[in-house]
Amino acid sequence: MRASDRHNQIMQPQRHFETVQPSGSFVDPAAPLSLVARAAQLNERWAEASTERILDEALTREFPGRVAVVSSFGAEAAVLLHLVAQVDRAVPILFLETGKHFMETLTYRDILVGRFGFTDARSLEPDPADLAREDPSGDLWSRQPNRCCALRKVVPLEKALGGFDAWITGRKRYQNADRAALAVAEVSDGRIKINPLANWSEAQIDQAFKDFRLPRHPLFDEGYASIGCAPCTRRILDGEHSRAGRWSGSDKTECGIHLGFDGAGI
Ligand code: SF4
Repeated sequence: MRASDRHNQIMQPQRHFETVQPSGSFVDPAAPLSLVARAAQLNERWAEASTERILDEALTREFPGRVAVVSSFGAEAAVLLHLVAQVDRAVPILFLETGKHFMETLTYRDILVGRFGFTDARSLEPDPADLAREDPSGDLWSRQPNRCCALRKVVPLEKALGGFDAWITGRKRYQNADRAALAVAEVSDGRIKINPLANWSEAQIDQAFKDFRLPRHPLFDEGYASIGCAPCTRRILDGEHSRAGRWSGSDKTECGIHLGFDGAGI
C-alpha cells in the first residue's frame, strides 16, 4: 500500500503547534566578519566536543534565549530532538509547514513534541499571498522546485529567525556531497548555524534510536530513509543512498532552507 493511500487511515494529528504567519523582510546573506570569527571560535572549541556539550553550551551559554531548533520531523529528526530535550524543553522548535508534507510527518511531529515535552513548538507557514501569486495550483514543485522551496521554506524560516542569533539543525556530513565538509558552526544569512550532529555516521544514528528507544517515523519502515515534502520524496531502492529519494530525477539535492532565495547554494 502506498503512503499516499494510507493518509485516510492515519488519525488526524493532535495540534500542539502554534501557527505563525511570516512577517518582516528577507535577511541579506552577507555575513559580517565578527560572525565569521565567532563561528571559527566555536568550531575550534567544539572540534572534539560531544554533541551533548555542544548543545548545552549553545542553549545555555552562547545563545540563551536567542537560539531556535529547526526540525523537519523526518526520518532522523528524533535523535537531535531527544538530545535537545535533555538540555532545554522550552527552546523554540521550528517546523516548516509547507502544506506538502505527508500526513504521517504531521502525526510524527505531534508524537515527538508530546513525548519530549517541548513547550514552544512553532509551525511556520508560507505567506498565502505568495502562494496565491506564484503557486495558485500548488504544482510549482513540479516546474520550479527551488522557487517552491523558497516560497514554502526559505522565506518563512528567514522571517521566523529574525528574532534569533543562532539556529540548530540536524544535518550530517554523510548525507550528501554538499554536506561532506559541513562545519559544526557556520555563518548563514547573518546568524550562526549550528550542526551538532555534523560528524555522526548513519550507524550512530541507527544506534541512537535503539539506545534512546526513540520511535521511528511511520514511513521509515516503508522504505523512506529520508523524508521531506511528499511530492519530492520517494522510497529508496536496495543499495541506494539514504537521500536518493529526495528530488529524485532532478539535480536538486539540498533542502530549500540551506539554499538562497533564488535556489543558489549558500
Ligand atoms: Fe516544494 Fe518540494 Fe521544496 Fe517541498 S521540497 S517546498 S514541495 S519543491
